[in-house]
Amino acid sequence: MKANWVEMTDQNSGKILVIDDDAIFTETIGILFDQELSVISAETGEQGITIAQSELPDLILLDIRMPDIDGYETCRQLQANPETAAIPIIFLTAKNDSTNEAMGLELGAIDYITKPIVPRIIKARVKNHLTQKRQRDELENLSAIDALTGIANRRRLEEYLETEWRRAARNKYAISLMIIDIDNFKSFNDTYGHQAGDDCLRHVANAIAASPQRPSDLVARYGGEEFCVVLPDTPEDPALDMAERVRENVKNLAIVHSDSPEYKVVTVSVGVATAMPPDEKIGYEGLIKIADEHLYHAKESGRNRALAS
Ligand code: GH3
Ligand code: MG
Ligand code: MG
Repeated sequence: MKANWVEMTDQNSGKILVIDDDAIFTETIGILFDQELSVISAETGEQGITIAQSELPDLILLDIRMPDIDGYETCRQLQANPETAAIPIIFLTAKNDSTNEAMGLELGAIDYITKPIVPRIIKARVKNHLTQKRQRDELENLSAIDALTGIANRRRLEEYLETEWRRAARNKYAISLMIIDIDNFKSFNDTYGHQAGDDCLRHVANAIAASPQRPSDLVARYGGEEFCVVLPDTPEDPALDMAERVRENVKNLAIVHSDSPEYKVVTVSVGVATAMPPDEKIGYEGLIKIADEHLYHAKESGRNRALAS
């Protein structure tokens, strides 16, 4: 596999990936954005998917008619992978008909450009989409909310945990943390598709958010299919009770998971850690690490359980 760096200039101005079997076209795009954007190219859909995963471009220009897998299938595969699903795609094609345009847009492409291209138009469109993408990324970073589930994001979680760790140290009370990980979620995605996987994440997030009791308890998405609950002023026993409730609530959603070896519905494993800062000088990062070890034990001992040691 080769990634052609047709042009590489200011990294901050954006990186686009052109997936097209027509090398002359790719070269034209490279020349068009000369000095302005980094343009990477791939000659097949499969190569494009691999490069998209490793380079994480800001935008993909995707040809529809290609040998091997076509643009539609390439688009489906890019969107099925959580790592590349959020990268905006513009379809490029010589086919100038509304059926193909509709199909591309229905697949989730943000735009559709027909060849032969008009340089000024393609330049303006690409730049507009890149600006919008940058604005979305900035909003997501500034925001405390996870876009998919609507609960707190990792950034908010770490801020909160740090603050609460210090408060616990000052007030000399215990603080607990749970890390919750969906069991066999990869096979859920493989069986039911990425869209169903996202829906499942939303339902699980709601079930977890409905479990804690106090306003000071914070529920957050830690990343991927992992969630955290921060429980200030909570010793181990009540934290474990709460974790047990979370586990029950998720199982009671009864989301069918036929490929789950034992339970046939979506379940979670939970690791719980409790500390008494500042006596324990592990810091909040240490608390995460311990909860993660307990989560690992919960997975090892059969999943669908909550463990505090
Ligand atoms: P285990 O029981 O050991 O936790 O197994 P697992 O399959 O849940 O764990 P693994 O870490 O192997 O797989 C996690 C999967 O979660 C991989 C990825 O496809 C999926 N995933 C992560 N983030 C998202 C997302 O935002 N949306 C969707 N649909 N899937 C996601
Ligand atoms: Mg995981
Ligand atoms: Mg998992």
